[in-house]
Amino acid sequence: MTSKDKIELLKGDITKIKTDAIVNAANSSLMGGGGVDGAIHCAGGPAILEACRKIVAKQGGCKTGEAVITTGGNLPAKFVIHTVGPVWNGSKYDEENKLANCYKNSLRLAINNHCKTIAFPNISTGIYHFPKKDAAQIAIETVVDFLAQTDEIEKVIFVCFDDENYGLYEKLIQ
Ligand code: ADP
Repeated sequence: MTSKDKIELLKGDITKIKTDAIVNAANSSLMGGGGVDGAIHCAGGPAILEACRKIVAKQGGCKTGEAVITTGGNLPAKFVIHTVGPVWNGSKYDEENKLANCYKNSLRLAINNHCKTIAFPNISTGIYHFPKKDAAQIAIETVVDFLAQTDEIEKVIFVCFDDENYGLYEKLIQ
């Protein structure tokens, strides 16, 4: 099985996905927000925010490109991995590497917590305005490279909420 065979593409709402972990495009405060973050906290219930508060008390939030893990609360997924994508600033602040780090660090954290299946949203492509085509390319490349180096992850699902992202991923994955 090549690493590309472990990748799946779906269109829809990530809160409905039953993988070991789903990834949240959080902000550094970990206190919830709009977009996919709001949807995850809303569907998963207060246990997720409570777990985030504990992490904040211990380590003071989460830096761009890094990731933390909490319960999935009422979600079908066991865990939520919260990663903080970069805000797009015209490529002035190494946003491409920071975005790749979101995917790598989320996958590492998944493995450390014995997760074999994981679903990602299109990190940074909403409120954070990362150009969608570049973000899709970075996401796919980073995941394919990572999967080539481990057998511990069995499935990665890219969950696209909007048609534009879905179309871009479809083209790049085939
Ligand atoms: P960011 O701040 O990282 O840009 P957003 O939540 O604004 O985060 O957007 C990230 C991506 O998540 C966007 O492509 C947006 O369309 C998508 N998104 C929003 N809601 C959901 C959802 N319920 N499931 C999956 N993806 C979602």
